Amino acid sequence: MTQETGGFAAFNLNPNILAAVIATGYEEPSAIQQQSIPIIMAGKDMIGQAQTGTGKTAAFALPILHCIDPAKREPQALILAPTRELALQVATAFETYAKQMPGVTVVAVYGGAPMGPQLKAIRNGAQIVVATPGRLCDHLRRDEKVLSTVNHLVLDEADEMLKLGFMDDLEVIFKALPPTRQTVLFSATLPQSIRAIAERHLRDPEHVKIQTKTQTVTAIEQAHLLVHADQKTSAVLSLLEVEDFDALIMFVRTKQATLDLASALEAKGYKAAALNGDIAQNQRERVIDSLKDGRLDIVVATDVAARGLDVPRITHVFNVDMPYDPESYVHRIGRTGRAGREGRALLLVTPRERRMLQVIERVTGQKVAEVRLPDAQAVLDARIKKLTNSLSPLVADAESTHGDLLDRLTADIGCTPRALAAALLRKATNGQALTLAAIEKERPLVPNNAPRGDRPERTGDRPDRGDRERRAPVPLAEGRARCRTALGARDGIAAKNLLGAILNEGGLAREAIGRIQVRDSFSLVELPEDGLEKLLAKLKDTRVAGKQLKLRRYRED
Ligand code: ADP
Ligand code: MG
Repeated sequence: MTQETGGFAAFNLNPNILAAVIATGYEEPSAIQQQSIPIIMAGKDMIGQAQTGTGKTAAFALPILHCIDPAKREPQALILAPTRELALQVATAFETYAKQMPGVTVVAVYGGAPMGPQLKAIRNGAQIVVATPGRLCDHLRRDEKVLSTVNHLVLDEADEMLKLGFMDDLEVIFKALPPTRQTVLFSATLPQSIRAIAERHLRDPEHVKIQTKTQTVTAIEQAHLLVHADQKTSAVLSLLEVEDFDALIMFVRTKQATLDLASALEAKGYKAAALNGDIAQNQRERVIDSLKDGRLDIVVATDVAARGLDVPRITHVFNVDMPYDPESYVHRIGRTGRAGREGRALLLVTPRERRMLQVIERVTGQKVAEVRLPDAQAVLDARIKKLTNSLSPLVADAESTHGDLLDRLTADIGCTPRALAAALLRKATNGQALTLAAIEKERPLVPNNAPRGDRPERTGDRPDRGDRERRAPVPLAEGRARCRTALGARDGIAAKNLLGAILNEGGLAREAIGRIQVRDSFSLVELPEDGLEKLLAKLKDTRVAGKQLKLRRYRED
């Protein structure tokens, strides 16, 4: 048992529950768990307010499991959740935590599935009932006594339940429960309607409020990209090339957009699917399960369809369309970085939406850094890295299994092993562009075409035909990259100034630096490709002739 597990041990939960928690891999209780578990274990009513992804499920599931009597085969705890997905998620969590408690069963009760088996499972002695309010009311109409033994009630995501119009159903359910029961309410927000419910149906509740807005976000690296609305799909495709993701969720505003983007992604060979409110419930579950187990890597969703979605594999969230408000931004990006894991969130911003970006930064208290589209070089590097990663495990025993065949084939064809390997590579990469020139040609978008007039690399440097920048492509030596600064002759720069600055500040040998071309309004310098990003970072603050050098990789286009 690790030191941290002591955190859970301190609650004095039933040892079988503690064992299951340890088996789940939780090390330390989250803040909401730390505060709620003792209160709920003590049988008190409680109102818990915390952001999504803070571990609310275990905050009520663990103490409730502790309080029930496995020997009694009747419903003892009722958990209400707004949607079928969330009810299933909560039911699964209960099953996980109850794994080592023989005799405890959990039943999920929701619409869209036959009522008979659900009712039968309740009557067969499930102690935990997790339900959506609507379907539970249907059951109550058939058998009003079905909940009469319940002595713990949890309202999970109470604000969502009200938003979905379950107020009347909740009242019906409250009436069907013994008035002596314990009631616990969890909600991300506490609008007046929720407080009114608490007033009427909770007895002297304890309040637990966890301020986690910024905490939720800190595990998530955020960035934004400026882009025109009609270039979003190609921007997304470019970003996917270089982002190292496991599973990814993309948010768009309309059902149609989920379908369009998902099929654009599928056409590029990604394992992607749409998730929207029109898609049948069971199909939605299948999509989420597929994302969980890796049959899908990308889900393109609307906010409604993705509500409560919890898939630990998600490493990235792309906000392809701007969320309607900052809260929903926080909610969306909370799909990654679950429970302290690291995640990355990218936001596409069209020129008209820049104000919204500022609002988001203010509300989250964090700067959302700007990123650029990857240039062709970055795409090439990423493709080659992927190829390397996919091929390198194949090499290990290939010579012993296929070496003789290779000898035979090269002899029969009359070619070198290099020629044959190259042919196989061409076949394996199936027409994918794997040279800079080919990648440039296939890309509908050039990088840094972000819709803004104040691109830093352009300051004081209007495109100047007289410089013949575009008409004089000098071939680059191998292993060299061409870099550009907006400083030129008119800034009083000569080649030797540039050379001196780069040698001194960059710590390079003279031979490492190739041609230096100084033009009127800019200069080009050839630098070693190897370690270029590091070198450029090192030179970030270098000044030449009193001005910032701002050297960047340069791409002819
Ligand atoms: P919420 O209901 O607050 O949105 P969940 O209960 O769905 O959050 O939990 C979010 C994720 O965090 C889940 O994947 C859950 O398994 C995980 N989790 C919960 N508690 C812990 C913990 N103490 N340590 C590590 N992971 C946890
Ligand atoms: Mg939850």
